[in-house]
Parts: sequence; structure tokens; C-alpha cells
Amino acid sequence: MAKLIGGVDEAGRGPWAGPVVAACVIIPDSVNLPILKESKSISPQAREKLYEKIKRKTIWGIGMASNREIDEAGIVKATEMAIKRAIENMPQKPDFLLIDGKDNFSLPIKYKTIVKGDEKVDAIAAASILAKVWRDRLMMLFSDMYQKYRFEKHKAYGTKLHRKMLIRFGVSPLHRLSFEPVSMVKRNENSILLHVCCGPCATSVVERLKNRFNNITLFFYNPNIHPRKEYERRLDEVRKLAEKWNLKLIEGKYDIRRWFKMTHIYRHEPERGKRCTVCYAMRMFETVKLAEEMHVPYFTTTLTVSPLKDEKCIFHIGEVLSGKFGVNFLEEDFKKRDGFKKSVELSKKLNMYRQNYCGCIYSLMERKHGYRRSTVEKGSIS
Ligand code: SF4
Repeated sequence: MAKLIGGVDEAGRGPWAGPVVAACVIIPDSVNLPILKESKSISPQAREKLYEKIKRKTIWGIGMASNREIDEAGIVKATEMAIKRAIENMPQKPDFLLIDGKDNFSLPIKYKTIVKGDEKVDAIAAASILAKVWRDRLMMLFSDMYQKYRFEKHKAYGTKLHRKMLIRFGVSPLHRLSFEPVSMVKRNENSILLHVCCGPCATSVVERLKNRFNNITLFFYNPNIHPRKEYERRLDEVRKLAEKWNLKLIEGKYDIRRWFKMTHIYRHEPERGKRCTVCYAMRMFETVKLAEEMHVPYFTTTLTVSPLKDEKCIFHIGEVLSGKFGVNFLEEDFKKRDGFKKSVELSKKLNMYRQNYCGCIYSLMERKHGYRRSTVEKGSIS
């Protein structure tokens, strides 16, 4: 009697969520199924058709290992479990296996691995199609259960969209905790990146956030501050606060030239005008970008502590950036509930330096001399 050869392949080793699926296929000698020819550069619709054909004409089995089993045993062992289950689920067992790839497995049937086997052996190509379509269909079902993650679009692979949804909504029961960036998102689930404009404003905000977040990282990014000496002075106060309260501080770049370039056309605007909108947006943009890189699910800013800042404008910027990057914006008017008053009291208690102008040269001139902003030109700053 002729030996029954089973082709084996899997789908879903790399994704950040869901099971790994393995398939084993025996193509009987009596069946003419030139999968290799038919499966080349195949469209999703054609693959679905081929899937049905394979199921009708071959001896096959499907097996899976869950995301929890992947976390516990590792992806190679979990793939082995899925292969064993696929064989168990076959109505007739193969005598020998041809397996795609080069991993070593402990299996009850002798086997040989073939790198790129799905491009060389019909039975492996058939198993590859079965495993892939099976898993894709499963992910479509999961996408109904966990709609916000959009599994129907990315099937849990590491796409930009999946990363965005993962950071925004956190880890689902379907995610693989042993995979990056899932584990990083899990670790950070109670974290926030706080844009800090100065030490005094940070005091009452950190006090308030401490009740809600286990992990608060300060981000000092304020290229608007002029002159450099003043910038260093404010930064120094934030450094001291971070050290005193044991907080992580990230210091952004002092790219004042970029700030001038972006705000120059609005130099004649009054405070709370368009120049301030650009100034808020520039600082909040860098904050959300960093939060996304760090896989931190929340960001916000101390800017709303000041009674002179336009909180509605800040909230609008936060909402737009949140939509773009997928990081949640904590929309809170920190001056409310005595937030500003507390920041004054706390900074006094901590003996902190508190500035008497907002930060840019225009606000400095106005405070010092009541200068018309139009007299301050871009070229005069170094
Ligand atoms: S007044 Fe303050 S918020 Fe407005 S542009 Fe100057 S530094 Fe930025």
C-alpha cells in the first residue's frame, strides 16, 4: 500500500493576537490538485475558492493553539501543539509528514522539514491555504467580539492600525502578552505622559494625576521659552521637582528656530491668539508622538493650569492629535477645582522659581515694556 504523505503548514505565528493555526493535508493519488500552479499570486477570493476545493477533495485536519498557550509555552511549542491537534483531527492519519520551515518538533509521526515548502510541495501549499483561510475567518469572528481593535483589517498582524488600536484601547483577552509591543502596552496601561510647561504648573497637576495613574512621566518640551537662560532656569526647576517626587523626566530639544519658523507669521497676534494655538499644537504634537513611541496610552499637558491659556483650544488640539496617533488625550482643565491656586501654594512651599511671563519673546516684551509685538522680528533672536 502506498504511503500517505501529509503536508503541514501553519498560519499566525507572527501576529500580536489570536491563535496559531496548523493544517495537515493528504492529497490522495486519485486526486488531481495542482495547488502550486493555482496558488501563485492568488487573490483572496480565489484563495477562498481553492480552500473549498481542498476541503472537498483531500484528507485534512486543522488544529490550533490559543494565545494563552503561546504565552505559556512559546510560539514553537504552541505550533507543535497545533500540528498535533491538526493530525488528531484527520479522519485518516498520514504515515509521513512534510512540514514547511525548519523548526524541530516532537511529533508522533516521522517528518521532514522543507524551507519554503509551500512553494515546492502541493500538499504543503494546500495546508498553507487551509490554515490561512481558517485563521482569517476566525479573526473575522473575533472582530465582531472586539470591534474596536479592527481585526477584520489587519488579522492581528503588526500593522500601524493595530498598534494604534492597541495603544488606545489597551490589551484585549485575545492578545499575546509575551509578544512585543503587547507586553509593553500591558506594562504601561496605567501610565501617562505629561507635557510640562514649567515646575510650578506641574506641581498641582502631578498631585491630581497621582490618584489616577501609577506611572507619570514628565516631558519638558518648550522651545517657545526665551531667552535660553530663562529656558534653563525653568527646566532646572522641573528637574528638581522630578528628583524630589521621584518622577521620570524626559527633556525635549530646545529647537527655538523651528518655533520661530512656525509662529513667525502670527507674531502680531495677541496672547490667546493664533500664535498661541500654533505654540500649544507644536508642544502637544511632540508629546503625543513621544507617547506613541513609548506605547503610553495617555497624554496631557499642564498648559491648562494657567488662567491665561485657552483650554478649549487645547482640548481641540488634544482631540485631533489623539485621533491621529491613537493615544488617548486626558481632557482636563487643571486650573479648575482650585488647581491654579494649589500650584501657587505648592510652588511656594517647595520654594520654586515662578516666572512672570508666559515664555516667548513676545510675551516677555509685552510684560517688560508693553512693546508692540510687531517690533520683535525673527532675525533678532539667536
Ligand atoms: S504667549 Fe505663551 S502660549 Fe502664546 S506663543 Fe507665547 S509662549 Fe506660546
